[in-house]
This record gives sequence, C-alpha cells and structure tokens, in this order.
Amino acid sequence: MELNELACHELHEKLAKKEITSMDIVKAVEKQIAATEKNIHAYITIFDDMEEQARKIVDKLTSGQVDKESLLWGIPVAIKDNICMDGRRTTAGSKILHNFIPPYDATVIEKLKNAGVIFIGKTNMDEFAFGSSTETSNFGPTINPSREGRVPGGSSGGSAAAVAADEAILSLGSDTGGSIRQPASLCGVVGMKPTYGRVSRYGLIAFGSSLDQIGPFSRDVTDCAILLNALSGYDSRDSTSVNRPVPDYTKALTKNIRGVKIGIPKEYFIEGINAEVKKAVERAIETLKKLGAEVVEISLPHTEYAVATYYIVATAEASSNLARYDGVKYGHRKEGTSIVDMYGKTRADGFGKEAKRRIMLGTYALSAGYYDAYYLKANKVRTLIRQDFEKVFAKVDVIITPTSPTPAFKIGEKLDDPLKMYLSDIFTISANLAGIPGISIPCGLTKNDLPIGLQILGKHFDEEGILRVAYAYEQISKRGFYGL
Ligand code: GLN
Repeated sequence: MELNELACHELHEKLAKKEITSMDIVKAVEKQIAATEKNIHAYITIFDDMEEQARKIVDKLTSGQVDKESLLWGIPVAIKDNICMDGRRTTAGSKILHNFIPPYDATVIEKLKNAGVIFIGKTNMDEFAFGSSTETSNFGPTINPSREGRVPGGSSGGSAAAVAADEAILSLGSDTGGSIRQPASLCGVVGMKPTYGRVSRYGLIAFGSSLDQIGPFSRDVTDCAILLNALSGYDSRDSTSVNRPVPDYTKALTKNIRGVKIGIPKEYFIEGINAEVKKAVERAIETLKKLGAEVVEISLPHTEYAVATYYIVATAEASSNLARYDGVKYGHRKEGTSIVDMYGKTRADGFGKEAKRRIMLGTYALSAGYYDAYYLKANKVRTLIRQDFEKVFAKVDVIITPTSPTPAFKIGEKLDDPLKMYLSDIFTISANLAGIPGISIPCGLTKNDLPIGLQILGKHFDEEGILRVAYAYEQISKRGFYGL
C-alpha cells in the first residue's frame, strides 16, 4: 500500500518510529493528486507549499510550537472551503466569494495548526453548503471516486471524495442537514457530525447557525476519534459552544458492545428506500445483535415533518446569514448606478440558482405576517422532533438507520428537481434539528459496487457511545464482509 492510502493512526506509528517522514506522505499525496484529481475534482484550491509545511514540521515539534502529544503531526489534511484560513482563499463554493481571502483562522484551523497537520488545500462543496450532490458549486461538480458519472453527495462532497480517492488522509466538512454523513455514505468513508456546541463554529462561513457543525472525515473509526479529539472543546468566540470537558474519544474504541441498547426507528424503513440499502443496513443490525447488542424497535413519530421543518429553519437562517454579501466589505462586486443598484447587481451576479432559491424561501418565511405561520411554527415542530429523541434515548443508547435512502445517484439526476434533492437528506436532517451527534460508516456495496452507509445517532455529547458501536462493527466489516 502507498502511504497516501493508509490511515492516520498507521502513519503516526511509522512517523513516531522514524520509519518515514512527513515529506514522504506529502509526496505520496501529491502524486495521487497529480494522477486522479482531474477525474475527481475534489479541490477548489490545492496549496503549493505542502512540501514547505512538511519541511518545517520537525522543527516545530522540537521547539514546542506543535503539541508533542499530537497524533496528527505531519499528516496531510484537506479543509472544506467554507472554513476560513488566514491568507488562503476561502470561497464557500460561490462566485460571490471567489476572491475572498480571510484575515484570520477558524478555531478548528488554529487547533489543527497546533496539532501540526499539513494542510493540502480547500475542498469543493455545494455553494454555501446548499445541496446534497456538490453540483451547485460555482467551480464545477466533484465526481464520486467509486464511479464515473455519479455524485459524491454533498455538500461536503469534495472532502469525502478527497479521502475516498486517497488524495487526503483526513478532511474537515460541515454538516447542517447531513452534509458530512451523506457524502461519507455515498463515497464509502467515515464521517461524523458532532453534537451542536461540541466543535467551535468560529470561522465557519455560516449557513444555518442553529444547525451547523464542523466534523471529521476519515478512512476508519479510529481516525475519526483522533481528529474529533483535536477539534472539540469550548471556545469563547462561539457563543453556542458548550463548556464541558472533552473525553479522549479513542478510549471509546473497545470492541465490546455487549448489552448496548440499539433502537431501530420504524419510520426510517419506509417505502422508497433502495432495496440494497435496506438489506445492507438490516444485515449490519443482525451483525450488531450477534456481537451482543440488544436491538429494539422504536418510534420517532414526528419524522415525517423533519424535511419540511428543516427547509423553513435552514432557509430562514441562510437568508439572514447571506444578507452580508453585498459587495461592500468583501467578495465579488458589480458596480451600479446607485448603492441599491450595486447591491442588486452584485447579488444577482454573485449567487447561483440554489442560493437565490433559498434566499427567497427564507426571506418569505421570515417576512412580517408570515413569521408566525412558518418560522415560529417550524420551531415548535423542531421542539417536538427533539422531544421524540429525548423520549427514545431514555430507553436506548444509540439509534441506527440508513444514512441515505439511495446510493450515489447520477450527475444531473436530481439537479432540476429541488424536492427530490431535498429528500435525499430525509434520514440525516433530524439529528441537526435535535442537535444530537451522528456518524456514517460504510456497511456494504451495491451489486454495482456503490458504497452504502450506516448511520448511528447518539445522545447529546455521547460521541463516545456512537464511536463504540461504530468501532465494534468496523472490526467485522473491515475484513471485507459486512455482516456475521
Ligand atoms: N443537503 C442539505 C441542504 O441542502 C444539507 C446541507 C448541509 O448539511 N450543509 O440544505
């Protein structure tokens, strides 16, 4: 195996024993990018100073600029292009920010700098993270590494594809309604959305501020825990960040799930779900039973309202967050005859179709006279959805569902039908509305070799519970078969 195909924990062992250097890994990643990126297009920007970063890393370690305990030093990591990096172009996949260079680092970037990672570049995404296929990027679509002509999922499609195509060891994404878990599922990698408040959103270009979370993509569950350790923690610059201790998530990786109670929501195994996806998930559940877990059927009765609720809350927050892009302080600008004319021209030219659709939907839902009927009502339903989970989590430890109702769909298949596209998030959205953590791990392939993902949802701040079950399952599935 080439170095760029290994997991971070495997590479770390070799680095620590001085069998390899960070430069060796960087060179392997660069070689892979040179060979495959033209077919995948995982990146919007690839940094040309990767080797320089690798050259400096040992000095940084010895001089104490990098945390000596870090398991991430010298490891190449890709960053979704809605996470601000000081001096590096950050576009959010939009024309309106095509020339935006942030003057500061997001908190997660500061943390990764302290952990000594090598930054590879900024990954492709749906414009402002609006989408489930990475097709709404102003920079062109990303292609699923599993199959030509298929989407990688979205909105963090570039981050998922970069790891799946061995163009990165790890990557960061953001998840507002499924944007980490769904592409992880479609590309066959691990992706986690932490509990709302676990990871700082400072420096993340806001989409739906009450829903957004940054999280890791990785090849396996161990790497997910390692990266989550580095990202988590309280940050006074994000008022929704929660001040509670961060456990060592790698300690949750025990293989032992005897007696763990798993809930299977009956509302998630509905008509319309792809037969191969259903079968793979059912098989995974059987496997977990054989490993000693106790499986019970549960009900989340307000599930049917989740998509509608999300598309009111998320668009309302998006329309308000996007008001700042007016051609004045930063980003794209088109001159006009007056300031209002300039605003109009800048926004008409700078935003794509989906962004405009969301601004209109959200502005309507928030407008005087409609606020109570839409935004207020959606927030009441959101509370009911959260309470569904609270009730169930009094009885079970984790909930298992498919991550996505279908495997990777064809490029163009859903682009002209927003409702169809919105429905691809039917299993992931509720976790964001409730603020709970969720992971997607590979649980099989279709007969056409398209990856299938298993979603594990947990209680608020119980990322450990999720990782424990994910790890136990992975130990079986890693050997090439996805069930006992
Ligand atoms: N696909 C969902 C949407 O379009 C979720 C996106 C996300 O999580 N950023 O809003």
